Amino acid sequence: MGAGAAARGAIGGPGVESGAASRYAIIDGLDATERESLLAEIDRVLAGRVRDIRLTGRLRAIYRAASWRHRSRTIRFWLLWVSVFSIVTCSLDYIMEPALLPVSLVTRAVMIPGCYAALAWIWSRPRAAWIEGVTLPITVATMMLVAGILGTAGAGAIHERYLLAGAFATSTAVVVFPIDRVWTIAGSAVILALFLAFGLINPAVEAKVPIIATIFFGFVIGCLIPARQAMNTVLEHAFVLSTRNRIQADALTAANARLAVLADTDGLTGLPNRRAFEVRLAQNWAAQAARAGTIGAILIDVDHFKRFNDSAGHAAGDRCLVAVARAIEAAIPDPSLAARYGGEEFVVLVPAASPSTLAAAAERIRAAVAALAHPHPGLSEGLCVTVSVGTAIAPALFELRGPEALLQRSDAALYEAKALGRDRVVAAPAAPPAPDWAGRNRAA
Ligand code: GH3
Ligand code: MG
Ligand code: MG
Repeated sequence: MGAGAAARGAIGGPGVESGAASRYAIIDGLDATERESLLAEIDRVLAGRVRDIRLTGRLRAIYRAASWRHRSRTIRFWLLWVSVFSIVTCSLDYIMEPALLPVSLVTRAVMIPGCYAALAWIWSRPRAAWIEGVTLPITVATMMLVAGILGTAGAGAIHERYLLAGAFATSTAVVVFPIDRVWTIAGSAVILALFLAFGLINPAVEAKVPIIATIFFGFVIGCLIPARQAMNTVLEHAFVLSTRNRIQADALTAANARLAVLADTDGLTGLPNRRAFEVRLAQNWAAQAARAGTIGAILIDVDHFKRFNDSAGHAAGDRCLVAVARAIEAAIPDPSLAARYGGEEFVVLVPAASPSTLAAAAERIRAAVAALAHPHPGLSEGLCVTVSVGTAIAPALFELRGPEALLQRSDAALYEAKALGRDRVVAAPAAPPAPDWAGRNRAA
């Protein structure tokens, strides 16, 4: 049972905020053991050098899911940008060679945008890694094919120029597409293969020209692959670090929440402890004072408890205190807060109480403990555990007196209940008016 369990109505403690959906949704769904094993996995992954980072299967799956939105946006933006650029370049084709316009329109304005729209659709939702990867070879193949068709239609020097332009444009895809390395390499190979193949069918140049050009491009693209790989590594490393931070921050928040509950809870009865009670009392005092309300305190003390312990032992005494706590908890009015004040004493805070409701609540508590019929081994045969109760009520507006004065008055009433023979409720007389700044009574 938590510290808030003995609070009724408006005196409840603060709730725990639930985490919002985020790119960490997968982590949010893991239980404590899974989080711990994931943390150990992350520590192993981060143990080596950054450039050697190798994600485990599970981390890779989490990374892919968490980074999908960003990767998808990057690729779809590239596809859109290149499609627009492709349509616009129909006019450049026309300027270069008016006869090219029909082929240009079919390839640049229909083939490329159509194919890229299909690829953008593939990237519209998460797919298997190989499906994501294969979009790069298809992307570059489409563009190189168009370069080849236009080059062949244009012939001669135009042929070479188109192939070069196609190779340049597709190189940017190699760098931009955030996909697995094997597919970056596959895409690069497709560019070079088509660049060479279309170059070799150009009747205007000797075979050595496209071969040399392909070797040159091979070097260029060979530099782009590690560049893309380095970006992947940095992104994965940053993701693993932020995941670790997230898991650790969550664990810390949960531990703090547990500690906060423990710090406010009495270990034996599970009721709020005196510290928690005093904090709530101060808060309530302020709240009641703000609306000129009253506040009531009920102090409860188990009768002849020392004798109980002496006769039945401390462990039995503990069990008796737990039973009394449960009885008090069940009898308190709504709204109110019960707490263990210390030893065999309990306290109940009743906001907005009137003398009659407070007296009724106190009597209900006394009767609830008596109804437990818990035998008292330290008293005569047949007698049971009872409590004496003192109550006091004060308008919270009298800030000068504060909560301490209220508790002192209920303690004095409790003392009187003991003196009058125990197992009874005594109410403190109404609070005298608070003194003003000069120490005089306001009523005087
Ligand atoms: P009275 O009716 O005047 O209140 O008499 P009493 O014996 O209850 O009062 P006293 O203050 O003399 O004794 C209180 C006893 O409560 C003494 C102490 O051993 C016992 N006590 C306090 N805290 C605990 C506890 O956590 N567990 C147990 N078993 N006993 C406790
Ligand atoms: Mg006592
Ligand atoms: Mg006692």
